[in-house]
Amino acid sequence: MNRKAYQNHGVSAFMELVIRNEHLNEILEKAGKSSVEICGFLFGRITDGKAIVEEIRFIPNRLNSPSAFEMEPLEMVRAIDEAEERGLEVVGIFHSHLCAPVPSLRDLKGMRLWPVVWLIAGSDGSCRAFVLEEGKIREIKIRLK
Ligand SMILES: [Zn+2]
Repeated sequence: MNRKAYQNHGVSAFMELVIRNEHLNEILEKAGKSSVEICGFLFGRITDGKAIVEEIRFIPNRLNSPSAFEMEPLEMVRAIDEAEERGLEVVGIFHSHLCAPVPSLRDLKGMRLWPVVWLIAGSDGSCRAFVLEEGKIREIKIRLK
């Protein structure tokens, strides 16, 4: 597994997530239609405390579960490799909840493994973003562009 993409950009609570409206809508739309959690990557760049999303990539949830997700590993690797070839890094992971968009205990474990921005889409059409800072979950601002 190639981890260099997300190891070195220093996610912090002062960060904000900058994402295009259409990208966010695409995630919310898919989430709203799905009976299981959807998931994927936010690819882009980290600059001046901003995680700027240039591309989103849906990855199959191999658990096919309404309450958990695990990205299909081969698809994950392929997506990261392809993004890196275009000079983009993993700035975030998104997934949906069939309840409120608040990190679960399981998400907290995932956030330790993947210390990037975690964007969660809720069943009510809302979306929130979180980072892990010093072991604690902090919400960060989502700015639409
Ligand atoms: Zn979750």
